[in-house]
Amino acid sequence: IKENINKIDENIWEIPSSYKKQMKVPARLYLNEEGIENLEEGAIEQVTNVACLPGIQKFSLGLPDIHFGYGFPIGGVGAFNMNNGVVSPGGVGFDINCGVRMIRSNLSEDDLKPYITELTEKLFKNIPSGVGSKGKIKLLPKEIDEVLNKGAEWAVNNGYGWKEDLKFLEENGRIKNADSEVVSDKAKKRGIPQLGSLGSGNHFLEVQKVDEIYNEKAAKIFKLKKGTITIMVHSGSRGCGHQVCSDYLRKMDKAYKKYKLNIPDRQLACAPLDSEEAQDYLKAMYAAANYAWANRQMIVHWVRETFEDVLGKSAKDMGMTTVYDVAHNIAKEETHIVNKNGMKLNLLVHRKGATRAFGPGRSEVPEDYREIGQPVLIPGTMGTSSYVLHGTEIAMENTFGSTAHGAGRILSRSKAKKEFSADEIKENLLSKGIQVKANSDPVLAEEAPGAYKNVDQVVKTSDKLGIAKLVAKVTPLIVTKG
Ligand code: 5GP
Ligand code: MN
Ligand code: MN
Repeated sequence: IKENINKIDENIWEIPSSYKKQMKVPARLYLNEEGIENLEEGAIEQVTNVACLPGIQKFSLGLPDIHFGYGFPIGGVGAFNMNNGVVSPGGVGFDINCGVRMIRSNLSEDDLKPYITELTEKLFKNIPSGVGSKGKIKLLPKEIDEVLNKGAEWAVNNGYGWKEDLKFLEENGRIKNADSEVVSDKAKKRGIPQLGSLGSGNHFLEVQKVDEIYNEKAAKIFKLKKGTITIMVHSGSRGCGHQVCSDYLRKMDKAYKKYKLNIPDRQLACAPLDSEEAQDYLKAMYAAANYAWANRQMIVHWVRETFEDVLGKSAKDMGMTTVYDVAHNIAKEETHIVNKNGMKLNLLVHRKGATRAFGPGRSEVPEDYREIGQPVLIPGTMGTSSYVLHGTEIAMENTFGSTAHGAGRILSRSKAKKEFSADEIKENLLSKGIQVKANSDPVLAEEAPGAYKNVDQVVKTSDKLGIAKLVAKVTPLIVTKG
């Protein structure tokens, strides 16, 4: 396969549409030399398979953290014409609106030092995590519909966090096209007890320190100061989103046959955007996305409460405001310029393990940030750095306003479990001054820093390409996870 990959420019590669008969557009890979060398053939097949789907525009994209996924690669973007394109649940993924929230503060590492053990214990206790973990609240069966329809707005209206948080969430934490009516009872049932929980595996809560600033102007606009404490939350829509994905994969498996769509892989099951199947999936997927925004909003509320309890100051006084909240598994309707004539087209942009990286001037970016572009939050691993970047015009032109979403796996969970031991990892992290607390030892091994690509390289590639530019590096002090 690899001889079909042509180098277009530094860190830009293309697989021409002649590679597969069904391909409608070429595939583009945004990777450095090392990334291309180590790229799994399965992921290459997947990014070229996506290029075969009806109505796809310009390129099927692979971003610097691309790896093998269900149907679509993770670290992939596919944009489809709203008039003749499709939606595919595999292009969003099972954890609908898995995403990252960042909170800033005016605290320093020294302010936290006396409380670090207590803070670790209490954060671990107050923010439920683990496989099938349950939230701390008792949601009434009828309330789940409100969560699904109103997202983070529901959470704020019910006392979780601050109204001003909503200004700094992608979609303000609520997609209006959501409709809980098309979410199955089974998905709701799974969602009710789990609202307000992190989940397991790669989902985490981190207390971090801003370690380096790369762009003073952007950091000032994002209100990030070197040496201050930040908090990062990575979680999604839990069992609820998973169930929505499973439910609609089954429906799409029928739909693509019904509409006689010729697809190269059954996992890419999809439906024309104007079909009932597609419209119902979109409404249900948005409902699950809203659930995820409510979920992260509640987690943030408990984080603030925990800091208040341990440090004896109010969250407002500690300046614990929201930097931003990004979705990295979602498909959304957006306008982009696709052709040379500069005409704007309405597209459904699937981002699977990809972060939106909208540049300056876009109305979707909060007013406070519009002059520089949106914050792009890219987690690394529990033992390395994570990064804040900003979106760019170059991303708008080349990647439908998108970049990577993480370091990207190199070892499967089972391989990582064989290779690493939890005790070793804990010891290693502790020696770097990182407190880690997880529900289970296997999770630590599965999520070992060595199971992931080098995040520094991933963000450097993004920065060099200009599809998201570096703003700040944060390093972990406390990690809690499932
Ligand atoms: P995903 O959304 O694909 O499940 O994970 C996104 C990214 O989170 C991964 O690619 C990895 O780089 C990062 N990640 C996983 N576990 C941790 C953690 O404990 N801390 C941090 N900072 N990042 C993590
Ligand atoms: Mn997730
Ligand atoms: Mn995620």
